[in-house]
Amino acid sequence: MKVTVLTGGVGGAKLVLGLTAILPPETITAIVNTGDDFVHLGLPVSPDIDTLLYTLAGKSDLERGWGRGGETWSFMAALKELGGPAWFNLGDGDLALHVMRLAAFARGEPLSQVTAAFARAWGIGASILPMSDDPVATLVDTDAGRLTFQDYFVGRQCAPRLQAVTFDGAAAARPGPGVLASIAEAEIILIAPSNPWLSVDPLLAVPGLREALIEATAPVVAVSPLIAGQAVKGPTAKLMAELGLPLTNASIAAHYTGLIDGLLIDSGDGAEGVDVPVARTATLMRTLDDRARVARAALDFAGALAS
Ligand code: GDP
Repeated sequence: MKVTVLTGGVGGAKLVLGLTAILPPETITAIVNTGDDFVHLGLPVSPDIDTLLYTLAGKSDLERGWGRGGETWSFMAALKELGGPAWFNLGDGDLALHVMRLAAFARGEPLSQVTAAFARAWGIGASILPMSDDPVATLVDTDAGRLTFQDYFVGRQCAPRLQAVTFDGAAAARPGPGVLASIAEAEIILIAPSNPWLSVDPLLAVPGLREALIEATAPVVAVSPLIAGQAVKGPTAKLMAELGLPLTNASIAAHYTGLIDGLLIDSGDGAEGVDVPVARTATLMRTLDDRARVARAALDFAGALAS
């Protein structure tokens, strides 16, 4: 069975890891947000792609929630001594990825090829596909003005009040190699519990992607990022409130209107106003077993919707 997942970083990677625990990895394709990508100190950083790589390679830092496990920080210490920027942390091991990516870009290789090479080097069986090889930059309009995503998310810790999100470059971006085919050929399509506005919308802004989802023969199931009206982590709930949206699963379903056939929500949550079929499981993914259970529930639900 071929499964394609649309995903951002940390929240989405939990579900993708869960899928790898119950399916042959070769059957799984993750289409990943690159709207957060940016250049720092001349180095190309792809936060969500890297999170998927670290997670599926078993190299992620589960406690800190981002970056590599067992990371060291000599580079940052030296950088700070020289008065360099300290707002964005680059671990010593993490640095290797960005330097290798820079060298590959200089040779003319696209992001998809570099990503596939990293995945191969780490023995990752699942396909990790950037949504596009063309640059797309998520920009947020806030009460502090228009900000780049990393300035808003890391630099200012999402404190400014959000008014709108735009995806610079999206209109001219082409879907990455394999992206449309993986949607067309999938037997099940999942939308991870990633931030719908900041992590999934950039994907949907790439011309052709939304249409491919609508035309896909596979059932499309989204996993809600909300549990008891709160986000598990990150700015999803704050952002929803600032956009004037109720913190409900109905808001999540409405956001994906016309795209999803079902919404998987937490066992304890209501489904009032959700306009698609709903299934429930405990959706908090603390352990690997949790991740596998949520992945299984999403697949079973999609299977039931298809039949
Ligand atoms: P980022 O790109 O690293 O910010 O991460 P994502 O956008 O992929 O994920 C952030 C979203 O994942 C947040 O809205 C969280 O509520 C959601 N999330 C994180 N962990 C879990 C979890 O264990 N269960 C569920 N249902 N949602 C989660």
